[in-house]
Amino acid sequence: MTEQRVPRRAHQARPPKEEGPGYDALAARIEAEVERLRAKRPALGERIGRAEHILVTHLACPRQRVIRVRVRQGRPRFLVKGSGGAVYSVDPSDWSCSCPDHHRRDATCKHAIACYVLMRASRPAPKGLRCEACGDRFPRRVMVEVRESLTYHEGDLLCTPCWIDSDAEVL
Ligand SMILES: [Zn+2]
Ligand SMILES: [Zn+2]
Repeated sequence: MTEQRVPRRAHQARPPKEEGPGYDALAARIEAEVERLRAKRPALGERIGRAEHILVTHLACPRQRVIRVRVRQGRPRFLVKGSGGAVYSVDPSDWSCSCPDHHRRDATCKHAIACYVLMRASRPAPKGLRCEACGDRFPRRVMVEVRESLTYHEGDLLCTPCWIDSDAEVL
Protein backbone atom coordinates (compact mmCIF):
# COMPACT_ATOMS: atom_id res chain seq x y z
CA MET A 1 0.00 0.00 0.00
CA THR A 2 1.40 3.34 -0.99
CA GLU A 3 0.91 6.23 1.32
CA GLN A 4 -0.48 9.31 -0.27
CA ARG A 5 1.91 12.10 0.37
CA VAL A 6 1.24 15.78 0.70
CA PRO A 7 3.53 17.63 -1.68
CA ARG A 8 6.34 18.95 0.44
CA ARG A 9 6.14 22.43 -1.01
CA ALA A 10 2.50 22.86 -0.09
CA HIS A 11 3.20 21.66 3.41
CA GLN A 12 6.10 24.03 3.92
CA ALA A 13 4.17 26.96 2.49
CA ARG A 14 1.76 26.89 5.39
CA PRO A 15 2.35 29.70 7.84
CA PRO A 16 3.82 28.44 11.12
CA LYS A 17 0.71 29.69 12.91
CA GLU A 18 -1.31 26.81 11.50
CA GLU A 19 1.18 24.10 12.46
CA GLY A 20 -0.34 23.65 15.89
CA PRO A 21 -3.40 25.51 17.01
CA GLY A 22 -2.33 28.39 19.19
CA TYR A 23 1.17 27.14 19.88
CA ASP A 24 2.33 30.42 21.43
CA ALA A 25 -0.86 30.77 23.41
CA LEU A 26 -0.50 27.25 24.77
CA ALA A 27 3.16 27.81 25.63
CA ALA A 28 2.26 31.01 27.48
CA ARG A 29 -0.54 29.31 29.37
CA ILE A 30 1.73 26.41 30.32
CA GLU A 31 4.26 28.88 31.65
CA ALA A 32 1.56 30.66 33.65
CA GLU A 33 0.30 27.36 35.07
CA VAL A 34 3.83 26.33 36.04
CA GLU A 35 4.32 29.65 37.86
CA ARG A 36 0.97 29.30 39.61
CA LEU A 37 1.82 25.78 40.75
CA ARG A 38 5.31 26.83 41.93
CA ALA A 39 3.77 29.50 44.12
CA LYS A 40 1.06 27.19 45.44
CA ARG A 41 3.14 24.05 46.01
CA PRO A 42 6.69 25.16 46.78
CA ALA A 43 7.53 21.69 48.13
CA LEU A 44 7.17 20.29 44.61
CA GLY A 45 9.67 22.80 43.24
CA GLU A 46 12.25 20.36 41.95
CA ARG A 47 9.69 18.04 40.36
CA ILE A 48 7.87 21.00 38.83
CA GLY A 49 11.16 21.90 37.15
CA ARG A 50 11.46 18.38 35.71
CA ALA A 51 7.80 18.44 34.63
CA GLU A 52 8.49 21.71 32.84
CA HIS A 53 11.27 19.97 30.93
CA ILE A 54 8.80 17.29 29.79
CA LEU A 55 6.38 20.00 28.66
CA VAL A 56 9.07 21.91 26.77
CA THR A 57 9.96 18.73 24.88
CA HIS A 58 6.29 18.00 24.29
CA LEU A 59 5.78 21.43 22.73
CA ALA A 60 9.06 21.58 20.84
CA CYS A 61 8.85 18.12 19.25
CA PRO A 62 5.17 17.44 18.45
CA ARG A 63 6.10 14.35 16.44
CA GLN A 64 7.53 12.65 19.50
CA ARG A 65 4.09 12.81 21.11
CA VAL A 66 5.62 12.95 24.55
CA ILE A 67 2.21 13.25 26.20
CA ARG A 68 -0.84 11.53 24.71
CA VAL A 69 -4.35 10.88 25.94
CA ARG A 70 -5.73 7.39 25.65
CA VAL A 71 -9.28 6.45 26.59
CA ARG A 72 -9.78 2.90 27.83
CA GLN A 73 -13.13 1.65 29.06
CA GLY A 74 -14.43 5.17 29.14
CA ARG A 75 -11.62 6.41 31.35
CA PRO A 76 -9.01 8.81 30.10
CA ARG A 77 -5.34 8.21 30.82
CA PHE A 78 -2.31 10.25 29.94
CA LEU A 79 0.58 8.33 28.43
CA VAL A 80 3.92 10.01 29.04
CA LYS A 81 7.16 9.00 27.36
CA GLY A 82 9.99 8.75 29.82
CA SER A 83 13.53 9.72 28.91
CA GLY A 84 14.60 6.06 28.85
CA GLY A 85 11.95 5.10 26.29
CA ALA A 86 9.44 3.72 28.78
CA VAL A 87 5.86 4.97 28.61
CA TYR A 88 4.14 5.76 31.89
CA SER A 89 0.43 5.96 32.45
CA VAL A 90 -1.00 8.81 34.51
CA ASP A 91 -4.52 8.55 35.92
CA PRO A 92 -6.07 12.03 36.09
CA SER A 93 -8.66 10.91 38.66
CA ASP A 94 -6.03 10.73 41.40
CA TRP A 95 -2.82 11.79 39.56
CA SER A 96 -1.22 8.44 40.22
CA CYS A 97 1.41 7.23 37.77
CA SER A 98 2.85 3.88 36.80
CA CYS A 99 6.45 5.13 37.10
CA PRO A 100 8.85 3.79 39.80
CA ASP A 101 9.19 7.23 41.36
CA HIS A 102 5.49 7.43 42.13
CA HIS A 103 5.45 3.94 43.62
CA ARG A 104 8.57 4.45 45.69
CA ARG A 105 7.57 7.75 47.18
CA ASP A 106 3.82 7.59 46.88
CA ALA A 107 3.96 11.23 45.87
CA THR A 108 3.07 13.25 42.81
CA CYS A 109 5.71 12.58 40.18
CA LYS A 110 6.97 14.80 37.35
CA HIS A 111 4.79 12.94 34.81
CA ALA A 112 1.61 13.65 36.73
CA ILE A 113 2.59 17.29 37.23
CA ALA A 114 3.30 17.69 33.50
CA CYS A 115 -0.12 16.20 32.61
CA TYR A 116 -1.88 18.32 35.19
CA VAL A 117 -0.29 21.51 33.85
CA LEU A 118 -0.99 20.54 30.23
CA MET A 119 -4.61 19.75 31.04
CA ARG A 120 -5.18 23.06 32.78
CA ALA A 121 -3.37 25.02 30.08
CA SER A 122 -5.38 23.33 27.30
CA ARG A 123 -8.79 24.17 28.68
CA PRO A 124 -10.85 26.44 26.48
CA ALA A 125 -10.40 30.08 27.30
CA PRO A 126 -12.94 31.31 29.83
CA LYS A 127 -15.84 33.23 28.35
CA GLY A 128 -16.12 36.97 28.61
CA LEU A 129 -13.59 39.76 28.53
CA ARG A 130 -10.98 40.43 31.14
CA CYS A 131 -11.30 43.49 33.35
CA GLU A 132 -7.98 45.36 33.40
CA ALA A 133 -8.47 46.25 37.06
CA CYS A 134 -9.60 43.08 38.83
CA GLY A 135 -8.64 40.50 36.19
CA ASP A 136 -12.00 38.71 36.32
CA ARG A 137 -14.05 38.05 33.21
CA PHE A 138 -17.37 39.68 32.41
CA PRO A 139 -19.76 39.97 29.48
CA ARG A 140 -18.92 42.92 27.26
CA ARG A 141 -22.22 44.66 28.05
CA VAL A 142 -21.29 45.25 31.69
CA MET A 143 -17.87 46.62 30.84
CA VAL A 144 -16.71 50.15 30.23
CA GLU A 145 -14.08 51.18 27.71
CA VAL A 146 -11.88 53.88 29.23
CA ARG A 147 -9.62 56.70 28.07
CA GLU A 148 -5.87 56.80 28.35
CA SER A 149 -4.79 57.69 31.88
CA LEU A 150 -1.92 57.11 34.23
CA THR A 151 -3.37 53.71 35.13
CA TYR A 152 -5.05 52.54 31.93
CA HIS A 153 -4.42 52.43 28.24
CA GLU A 154 -6.84 53.91 25.75
CA GLY A 155 -9.58 51.35 25.11
CA ASP A 156 -8.96 49.21 28.20
CA LEU A 157 -12.06 47.50 29.52
CA LEU A 158 -13.14 47.69 33.14
CA CYS A 159 -16.02 45.88 34.80
CA THR A 160 -18.69 48.20 36.19
CA PRO A 161 -17.68 47.94 39.89
CA CYS A 162 -14.02 48.60 39.05
CA TRP A 163 -14.96 51.49 36.80
CA ILE A 164 -17.07 53.08 39.58
CA ASP A 165 -14.15 52.72 42.00
CA SER A 166 -11.70 54.20 39.53
CA ASP A 167 -11.57 57.72 38.24
CA ALA A 168 -11.19 56.52 34.68
CA GLU A 169 -13.09 58.43 32.02
CA VAL A 170 -15.34 56.63 29.58
CA LEU A 171 -13.95 56.51 26.07
ZN1 LIG B 1 5.43 9.20 36.97
ZN1 LIG C 1 -13.04 44.61 37.50
